[in-house]
Amino acid sequence: MSAEAAPRHVLVLGGTTEARRLAETLAGLPGLRLTTSLAGRVARPVLPPGEVRIGGFGGPEGLAAWLRQHRVAALVDATHPFAERISFNAAAAARAAGVPLLAVRRPSWQPHEGDDWHPVDSLEGAAALLADGRLGERVFLTTGRMGLAAFAGLDGPWFLVRSVDAPDGARPPRTEVLLDRGPFTLDGERALLRAHRIDVLVTKDSGGTATAPKLAAAREAGIPVVVVRRPPTPPGVPTAPDVPTAAAWVRDTTALS
Ligand code: NAP
Repeated sequence: MSAEAAPRHVLVLGGTTEARRLAETLAGLPGLRLTTSLAGRVARPVLPPGEVRIGGFGGPEGLAAWLRQHRVAALVDATHPFAERISFNAAAAARAAGVPLLAVRRPSWQPHEGDDWHPVDSLEGAAALLADGRLGERVFLTTGRMGLAAFAGLDGPWFLVRSVDAPDGARPPRTEVLLDRGPFTLDGERALLRAHRIDVLVTKDSGGTATAPKLAAAREAGIPVVVVRRPPTPPGVPTAPDVPTAAAWVRDTTALS
């Protein structure tokens, strides 16, 4: 009698709604062992089902070693579109360890009729656009607490900074912090813009639905939106636009279907 085959181990690099949904889809499938990896940036993360590990791997070499040591059969990069370093690390590590890799990349947001978008390539570019106050002077800044330093030199505009955890580094002198975690609603975003008399919104092109209502609220209110474009993705890595496509890839790649 042959020994029972070891479960196929899938590592999901997480930190996004998609990663959590993918874990919910895959966890418990017979013959599959699932681990989600989180960077450890958020103090109280919403944990997905399956195994969870938290913290960096130590660069691409560390990740490649982890893939070998834990006999990973498939790697899914379901990190945020702006988490550039881990995505390039994943591409290099997967190549080095000979592990198939898929990146989940939700489509970019597209402007609609009535939008007043101002695309920039970086947070620094966004800060430069805000410097003279012509776009607006009461800024709703939704680019996350990590990049706040890029705006620290702006002492003219007032900033409403929304983030999951409190920012702890350099920040603009006139800042109010609002701690909150998506998904957000259109009604809630409308009320927020009104209550704080916001006249310009700054966002990354994160894509997805969880944080999109702020764009519709800004459109309705005729507020300009500074949109930070996405960083490049590693060349040669196949991508899936959504969770069902990624789950199908995992099943095919691990021969579970
Ligand atoms: P990053 O700049 O691409 O990565 C910096 C380092 O953090 C990586 O080199 C890696 O450390 C570690 N790391 C990142 N994601 C990891 C993961 N899922 N598991 C284990 N280690 C990870 O990433 P970031 O922009 O700081 O984002 C950190 C996490 O927050 C990501 O997982 C991302 O999905 C999530 N997130 C980011 C944004 C954003 O706007 N950037 C927004 C929402 C959520 P080692 O080199 O030591 O392995």
